[in-house]
Amino acid sequence: MSIENLARTNVRELTPYQSARRLGGSGDVWLNANEYPIAPAFQLTAQTFNRYPECQPAQVIERYAAYAGVKKEQVLVSRGADEGIELLIRTFCQPSKDAMLFCPPTYGMYAVSAETCGVERRMVAAKQDWQLDLPAIADNLDNVKLVYVCNPNNPTGNLIDPDDLRRLLEMTKGKAIVAVDEAYIEFCPQASLAGWLSDYPHLACLRTLSKAFALAGLRCGFVLGNETLIALLLKVIAPYPLPTPVADIATQALSSEGIVLMRQRVSEIATHRRWLQQALQNYAGVEQVFTSDSNYLLVRFTAARQVFNHLSAQGIIVRNQHQQPGLSGCLRITIGTRDECQRLVDALTTANETCQERM
Ligand SMILES: *Cc1c(COP(=O)(O)O)cnc(C)c1O
Repeated sequence: MSIENLARTNVRELTPYQSARRLGGSGDVWLNANEYPIAPAFQLTAQTFNRYPECQPAQVIERYAAYAGVKKEQVLVSRGADEGIELLIRTFCQPSKDAMLFCPPTYGMYAVSAETCGVERRMVAAKQDWQLDLPAIADNLDNVKLVYVCNPNNPTGNLIDPDDLRRLLEMTKGKAIVAVDEAYIEFCPQASLAGWLSDYPHLACLRTLSKAFALAGLRCGFVLGNETLIALLLKVIAPYPLPTPVADIATQALSSEGIVLMRQRVSEIATHRRWLQQALQNYAGVEQVFTSDSNYLLVRFTAARQVFNHLSAQGIIVRNQHQQPGLSGCLRITIGTRDECQRLVDALTTANETCQERM
């Protein structure tokens, strides 16, 4: 028997997550992974690398709880939000029996994690305005133990109507966990559901240091939930999920100075986003620039493939979204530095000129 055939059927059939790093590309302007464009400087202070780390480093937990406005017992720290996504599936969904539900177009890891775990994926397409289709969700909740909602949604950039989120939480009471992915919540902090935890024992919020905190390479994320939910996740998580250097740097990033710097980054990115949105709206090949509450813009082009290729020939890498339902012709563009935004606009101008010469 070949090794290939020894693998679980669902793993053999799995299409792995096409991360920006895996897709690769060559260029010098990276606008495809929603990272912050400049690396903040950190120094390691920890030295005790001979010892295993704490499972849930106390300082990281305390500082994140204070930052998020929740109790220490309501925080779990993980190897990126991606680990949180998978932990929730492994904790609440029985393979080949339970289902998890999400609403495409949305973040790809919900599907990949469920598939890896052998858990049924129930998809209920978002409405045309990318809000939740609540009646369709209600009709599809049989056996569903976990519902993922991304807010603001990646890759569309929109916020989900809070009244709909409340209705979803009411509808799933006692039946399923609602996990709200708040990876970009620092760009619209008023929209966080962290304040709703006391009302809903089945609510979980996913957070990360990868986006507004500019630490995608650190691999540090959080789940916020009530004590019972967090205690269940702690039964499943690896014994030492967070390396000592990660805890060290996360502690620094969550200091009061670290949070001030994060907020400065957020307001600077929002300024660049408004500038880029304006600039793109005047560009001939753009059909629509969608409003965004995050650090990226979703843009529909009349000739997306040519634009993508032209940009990458100029060393500018963006993310194609055409394979997602409802997103034909769409590219997702991360907001970079002001210079990087300018380079993008300049490259689009030359793309238009090249197209016109050909016509
Ligand atoms: C980037 C991203 C994540 C992953 O965050 P990590 O902490 O880097 O694993 C999760 N959810 C969404 C919606 C994201 O865009």
